[in-house]
Amino acid sequence: MLDTRLTARTSPTQPSTAVHAAGETVGGPAFTVIAGPCSVENREMLLLSAASVRASGARLLRGGAFKPRTSPYAFRGLGASALEMLAEARDLTGLPVVTELMDARDLDAVDAVADVIQIGARNMQNFSLLAAVGERDTPVLLKRGMSATVNELLLAAEHVMAHGNSQVILCERGIRTFETATRNTLDISAIPVLKQETHLPVIVDPSHAAGRADLVPALAAAAIAVGADGLIVEVHPDPASALSDGAQSLTFDAFAEMMRALAPLARVCGRRLDLPLSIPLDALSDNGVSSSLRVCA
Ligand code: PEP
Ligand code: MN
Repeated sequence: MLDTRLTARTSPTQPSTAVHAAGETVGGPAFTVIAGPCSVENREMLLLSAASVRASGARLLRGGAFKPRTSPYAFRGLGASALEMLAEARDLTGLPVVTELMDARDLDAVDAVADVIQIGARNMQNFSLLAAVGERDTPVLLKRGMSATVNELLLAAEHVMAHGNSQVILCERGIRTFETATRNTLDISAIPVLKQETHLPVIVDPSHAAGRADLVPALAAAAIAVGADGLIVEVHPDPASALSDGAQSLTFDAFAEMMRALAPLARVCGRRLDLPLSIPLDALSDNGVSSSLRVCA
């Protein structure tokens, strides 16, 4: 028997747990969208991205400071200086920050800035890292390992909760299969399974699942239809020049368009996805940080 004493839903009528991050909620009546670049590349691109995704309806900002990369020669993130930029982006836009922790030695630095600590797919079963974040009270976004079963994901969440942190968000981000048309295969069935098995909120990462920006809106719509509580989406001011995951990153305009398309779908599915009053998109195109800051003022 799977011993998920803390993560298990005890009855079909048990309310879902809402995770609270600096005034935003994942797992409540709203469908919550987290968006931003894969990696923090510099201050300007981060501030522009934060302002733009906020104007399009994102409620939290993502951005990697410490990046897990398959090749040791690839861009591995700016580290501590990126954390400072994330803090500035939060101050300017009000968006709570989601950023990845790869190494428990960086926990104090990451926890000082993050409103949600992301544990990436490659570390889903890094049990000492799970214990370390379990001892904090900062919410944890736990991504499913690329070869992990649903039960293994639940048990990884159980590790965090067993150490005392009950604020855990689960994320389906695609798994390895024989299929090569997409970077990973979005396990769409995992969402209703998880929603039945656990009271924790479940979000979907259509960007890492697809590996292709053109498929992201369709997977995001599917996530709403099967009952996910939100999304984490990669957005970049110029995907073609991104230092990581450009192929799967949406432009500002594509993200705005996707959000406008998702809002009525969310309503039909019984979730709120409130978009800010429309701001002309040309105010967001790449005319410098100062114009982006006017947009968020
Ligand atoms: C990311 O969010 O940029 C990331 C590396 O995700 P994953 O751990 O799901 O591969
Ligand atoms: Mn990425």
